[in-house]
Amino acid sequence: MQDCIFCKIHAGEAPSRKLGENETMFAIQDIKPHAPFHALIIPKKHVASLNDLSAEDRKKILPSMYDLAEELAVKNGIKERGYRCVINNQSEGGQVVFHLHMHMLGGASLKDNYF
Ligand code: AMP
Ligand code: ZN
Repeated sequence: MQDCIFCKIHAGEAPSRKLGENETMFAIQDIKPHAPFHALIIPKKHVASLNDLSAEDRKKILPSMYDLAEELAVKNGIKERGYRCVINNQSEGGQVVFHLHMHMLGGASLKDNYF
């Protein structure tokens, strides 16, 4: 989709630090990290938000996000220590980029941080 930063990153038209991918998802480092490890797990297909997922996409995209999160947790040594996965949805949910993505934060204690 034109003018979507995450579509541009996926197309190689904007820079990013790639952390991994699977068939339906890719993961990059957040440009403004809120934790030592802060990844964004993003569907390769443009879907604006959780509200825009079709029932069919929901069954494919959401499990695939957690598959990649699990892989990143193992690869980055944070599975046992723990981490947080967050999807911001629409304006009161704090969504700023309207291409669905899941934040994955870890590498430090997040218990007093309500990101
Ligand atoms: P959200 O508030 O859930 O929409 O979060 C959007 C996130 O995308 C923020 O944490 C931003 O720091 C991050 N972000 C925006 N542009 C980029 C970019 N070009 N590369 C990596 N992360 C980005
Ligand atoms: Zn997009």
